[in-house]
Amino acid sequence: MELHKITVCGGGNGAQTLAPLAALRLGCDVDLYAPLGDEAKRLRAGMDSGGGLEVTGTVQAQARLHRISDDAAEVIPGSQMVLLVLPAFAHEATLRQVASFLEPSAWVGAIPARGGFDYCAAHVLREAGRDDVAIFGLQTLPWACRIEEYGRRVHVLGVKKSVTVAGRPAAQMKGVMPLLERMMGLPMRPASSLLSLTLANTGQIIHPGIMFGLFGQWEGALLEQAPLFYQGLDAEGAQVLEGLSRDIQAVRSRLSEQLDLSEVEPLLDWLLRAYGEAIGDPATLHNAFVSNAAYAGLRAPVREVAPRRFVPDFSARYLAEDVPFGLVPTRAIAGLAGVETPVMDRVIAWAGGHMGRDYLGRDAAEARIPQKYGLETLSQLIAFATES
Ligand code: NAD
Repeated sequence: MELHKITVCGGGNGAQTLAPLAALRLGCDVDLYAPLGDEAKRLRAGMDSGGGLEVTGTVQAQARLHRISDDAAEVIPGSQMVLLVLPAFAHEATLRQVASFLEPSAWVGAIPARGGFDYCAAHVLREAGRDDVAIFGLQTLPWACRIEEYGRRVHVLGVKKSVTVAGRPAAQMKGVMPLLERMMGLPMRPASSLLSLTLANTGQIIHPGIMFGLFGQWEGALLEQAPLFYQGLDAEGAQVLEGLSRDIQAVRSRLSEQLDLSEVEPLLDWLLRAYGEAIGDPATLHNAFVSNAAYAGLRAPVREVAPRRFVPDFSARYLAEDVPFGLVPTRAIAGLAGVETPVMDRVIAWAGGHMGRDYLGRDAAEARIPQKYGLETLSQLIAFATES
């Protein structure tokens, strides 16, 4: 399959990295859909003033995009592939905006998928009468990247060695994987289903788990600086990460008779595989985290409330994405499987308290749980995950 035109949805770091790379590597038209605020206008202004969007750093490219718009009707028609490079909380609204303009048998992919993307996407597409549209998700954004000058230049700090991908219908993934590999410039590891990707998402363990480790006992005292995020993890915090990983492994074992969940690794196994030689001391999970050179110097999210006085930023992505689009969907799947998740419950209750949400009760359906999209029993969940 050759691609003639694709559309990237989003106007942030990831979208401004992917769009020029895809244009160069695929040699096809790349449109950008950026409906938020005046982003489309600012992106067009950047594009008009130079030779196109520039990517610098570990990966380098410069390319002009075909068209940039805040109107889905202008960019989605004619796109064989539509890529959502957005925080997970923008997926559903964006899918609703683009659904009716999608080409017959187009592909819609989320980069990264986070948890429960498949439940939400299948539901929105079905409501729009678009069961012909296939979906896929990548486990992570392949790049650590930051915009340097909006609409002009984005800097890539690092690239993953490989990225796991899953899709629905799974059988069609064979045709898409080579295109994704060309576009991203790295190998794709196939996972058997998007359910596997939801459970294998390690961000849901690491980000809320470390926030809990760092700030679980925080009672309002002002901080003089942001603590180191990964290297600030203590032995007790590492036990929380181990507990979250154990809860997920319990779900994996319960469902493994019915589904291939081999991608759902214990956290330490994943860490050693993903970071390899960057880890100085792999003896324990705690040692592996604090000795990982790739994590060195990164600090926890904080807000400055007075000169050089800080409080933890509980509105940061580490909770805003990884709890409602990570831990809560996983816990809901565990619930359908009849598996208890004591550590996850503790972290979700704590995070929800700081986010003003009762994700274990009243506000569960604000998260991307399967039950919200009509999957109410384990057999429905498994039938959905294995539909071809
Ligand atoms: P970002 O913060 O740059 O994205 C913000 C953009 O998303 C906005 O500029 C807007 O274009 C869009 N957006 C936000 N809310 C929207 C809404 N309600 N409606 C429509 N559009 C909306 O995010 P990013 O850095 O590009 O990250 C994208 C995803 O990749 C996130 O899930 C992030 O956690 C993940 N990720 C990013 C990095 C990185 O280095 N940037 C690394 C790993 C994972």
